[in-house]
Amino acid sequence: MRGQLAAAGLGQVSEGRTGFLGGRDLGEIENALDDAIGYREPDNGTCPGCTPEGLCGDHQADQDAADSYRALKARVQELLYPELEAS
Ligand SMILES: [Zn+2]
Repeated sequence: MRGQLAAAGLGQVSEGRTGFLGGRDLGEIENALDDAIGYREPDNGTCPGCTPEGLCGDHQADQDAADSYRALKARVQELLYPELEAS
């Protein structure tokens, strides 16, 4: 039963409802994601394990996280600025 309730809660979030968060909250999330992207984005050229052909394991994980945050930021921006998508 508890699992079903948790799944229902996740369902509400994944449906894109924004009733629980206001525009100011979403703007702050956008700012936080900017900080997270800046923090996790690998700094090219400073790691002996990274090569021109590819990133080392640690930095690939950082890049994957930064890409994920960037994708989430784009979804937050779709909610914040729906007029940009319509135009
Ligand atoms: Zn590296």
